[in-house]
Amino acid sequence: MNATAMAERVRRGETSARFLAEESLRAIRARNEELNVFLHVDEHGAMAAAARVDDAIARGEDPGRLAGVPIALKDNLCQVGVPTTCSSRILEGWRPPYSATVVERLLDAGAVPMGKTNLDEFAMGSSTETSAFGPTRNPLDPTRVPGGSSGGSAAAVAAGMTPLALGSDTGGSIRQPAALCGIVGVKPTYGLVSRYGLIAFASSLDQIGPFATSVADAALLLEVIAGHDPMDSTSLPEPAPSLVAHLDDGVAGRRIGLVRELIEGADAEIVTAVERAASVLEAAGATVVELSIPELRLGLSAYYLIAPAEASSNLARYDGVRYGLRVTDEDVTAMNEATRTAGFGAEVKRRIMLGTYALSAGYYDAYYGQALKVRTQMRDAFKRAYRDVDTLLGATTPSVAFTFGSKTNDPMAMYLSDVFTIPTNLAGEAALSVPFGRGEADLPTGVQLLGPGRSEARLLAAAKVLEDVERGS
Ligand code: GLN
Repeated sequence: MNATAMAERVRRGETSARFLAEESLRAIRARNEELNVFLHVDEHGAMAAAARVDDAIARGEDPGRLAGVPIALKDNLCQVGVPTTCSSRILEGWRPPYSATVVERLLDAGAVPMGKTNLDEFAMGSSTETSAFGPTRNPLDPTRVPGGSSGGSAAAVAAGMTPLALGSDTGGSIRQPAALCGIVGVKPTYGLVSRYGLIAFASSLDQIGPFATSVADAALLLEVIAGHDPMDSTSLPEPAPSLVAHLDDGVAGRRIGLVRELIEGADAEIVTAVERAASVLEAAGATVVELSIPELRLGLSAYYLIAPAEASSNLARYDGVRYGLRVTDEDVTAMNEATRTAGFGAEVKRRIMLGTYALSAGYYDAYYGQALKVRTQMRDAFKRAYRDVDTLLGATTPSVAFTFGSKTNDPMAMYLSDVFTIPTNLAGEAALSVPFGRGEADLPTGVQLLGPGRSEARLLAAAKVLEDVERGS
């Protein structure tokens, strides 16, 4: 059952939140050992949240738009009292003293958080293989990765453990795993969703967003979590946009650009899927033009300077004094060093070193400064493209879900998994991935729709057109 239907049934008293939470726990127990999706299942908290929803119904109150819907949270989102690790040894045993704004909004809407899902350590990766607690397996083919970094959240939804999940997307970490697991994932406009209580990776790029099995469910979840929050200084000063009401707007009259650089180098089946998506949108009344935005090719290089630079600063706080792990040594400096050496994994250390180097006095202008200029060029290039078209179309990933270990020895090969998703983060704009087509080994492929800031309603409506055709309705 999808989330929209679940909430309606709970609100009408046709099923209970407790029943849905128990069903979700059963589905989690059935496959969690095999797939390693949840790092922590919050059985007690979930049953308590479900009971609050059922009690509200019994009192004749409306518990909210996500009444009784089980949801999975990426383990870089804080929930008061619930272990939060970012899949890192350095945070092992830490329990946040407060909840993220998105978690508060979920609870206010009657959703039932089931626990915390696996991710690449500090969200750095594209496969969940950098998690200190072992990789997550793709529920569609357990010999393959679910993508990353929000691999656990995508897998929870794809395995039917929860109909909804939240992830974070700094360079593609919602869209890429959504594509690899055959579900919908949205990277909202920078500032649309509050990041208060999201553990920071690269603050000028991070955004929280939804995973769901349908476009309608993704729209509903995004509406619930979006909207201004005074606790996040980067939060846009406006209420949540209306998305569900526009789901059936279609694409008649739209101008859509099929971007050459967003299919370049992708598997043949993926290019075919994107081209078929273009014909479907055209048949539904849009005008599709082919275009080129050469600046997008610079995205990956700029990202791997900007994101590590910000990460090296954000991760300085893990010093063995304030959070989680502490490895004692003869003095404070030695303790800091021993803690960070033991607590961080290889990929996190690589990013800290890259970022520190890019920001160092002698190289700041040559690396970080250059990357910021490229970022501005990219933003301008998108702006120019949006003078001519209102939506862009491309692939989400160059390939379908890959096998374990196939990219772990070659960081560049792993980084290339996000070559199509990174430009949106650099521009601070909106994009989503919707399942469309099949690739190698009959695994799902994702099509990416991109738009300027605050274009989520339009992107979701276009995605719905593709979803309807794919489902034959
Ligand atoms: N895979 C990219 C990285 O490793 C993006 C990760 C993300 O979006 N969190 O940085």
